[in-house]
Amino acid sequence: MQQNLLDFDAQKMAAWFATQGEKPFRARQVLRWVHKSGEADFDAMSDLALTLRGKLKENACVQVPKVMREELSDDGTRKWLLDVGTGNAVETVFIPESDRGTLCVSTQAGCALDCAFCSTGKQGFNRNLSVAEIIGQLWWANHQLGKNAEGNWPISNVVMMGMGEPLLNFDNTVSALHLMLDDNAYGLSRRRVTVSTSGIVPAMDRLREECTVALAVSLHAPNDKLRDQLVPINQKYPLKELLAACQRYLEKAPRDFITFEYVMLEGVNDSEQQARELVKLVRDVPCKFNLIPFNPFPQTHYKRSRPDAIQCFRDVLMQADIVTTTRKTRGDDIAAACGQLAGQVQDKTKRTMQRSVGIV
Ligand code: SAH
Ligand code: SF4
Repeated sequence: MQQNLLDFDAQKMAAWFATQGEKPFRARQVLRWVHKSGEADFDAMSDLALTLRGKLKENACVQVPKVMREELSDDGTRKWLLDVGTGNAVETVFIPESDRGTLCVSTQAGCALDCAFCSTGKQGFNRNLSVAEIIGQLWWANHQLGKNAEGNWPISNVVMMGMGEPLLNFDNTVSALHLMLDDNAYGLSRRRVTVSTSGIVPAMDRLREECTVALAVSLHAPNDKLRDQLVPINQKYPLKELLAACQRYLEKAPRDFITFEYVMLEGVNDSEQQARELVKLVRDVPCKFNLIPFNPFPQTHYKRSRPDAIQCFRDVLMQADIVTTTRKTRGDDIAAACGQLAGQVQDKTKRTMQRSVGIV
């Protein structure tokens, strides 16, 4: 079987090259070809000896997941749906802005955590993505978009806010993060790579030891009672423990604040009173807030908060000196929100299956 080189960070690449009787600097050269130059064809790796190229052609490959569909929004947001086998799909979204290009990557097919308002959660957990499938999203998006006029790749920022809980696929996520930060691969700044977590406390501590990047925490509620319902993992890691873990993380983090994500659900977590409760809750954690207007999907009973409620909520946080942004709803026309397009495809497959067994 051919070894997919996208599965290796620098360390694993060097170890594999050693098993092939090759020197560590060869591993570094190949890492640069594959990630820095975006090259998948060993014949084009011109500074490698012909014998090594031959060996690589025989034993290795550079393989990204198959793209099932690509969609382009009117606002320039681009979304790829990737086939990860056995009827599963994950998505990657590129969001261009004037001063940066952000890629939102997935880390799992589905998610086991079943947050009440999340369409990925409603699909259940299927499996962890491999390193190749995670980093392959960045490789592929860069490849598709092409280098800019200055010869740089267009993606300057990565957020792990696609499908799945990155900290429950810890090892593969960390290897992919290492590649994103590695100067021989993508060379992104730690401050421009963000892991988003629903609050897996022990894994937050591990991340702090193994690979500090910017951290976003999905808060979504000002107290345990409501958070237990919206984000069920809160029953295992309640707010007090979560906020303490945030403080520990900040001791080593590349940024001096945590970003709290807060999905705005009409009549559920969006009142002025709840905003005040939230201010008290996070009093001791240096933070910024990102309010996310809820993105509805077919099987949900939740509604997006009204713009005036979002504005009022934001004002309360701002008055308490908490920098608060409201996420722009980008790519609405191509359902570029968390888990949506893959949800549609899965629904279709399910319906097709149901049809074929005569349910609908
Ligand atoms: N599992 C991680 C990262 C993926 S979800 C986490 O939960 O943080 C990325 C963000 O999208 C999270 O803040 C999540 O709560 C939010 N999200 C999920 N479903 C959403 C929806 N339907 N509308 C708006 N935001 C949503
Ligand atoms: Fe999983 Fe995040 Fe969705 Fe919760 S919000 S179900 S943790 S992907």
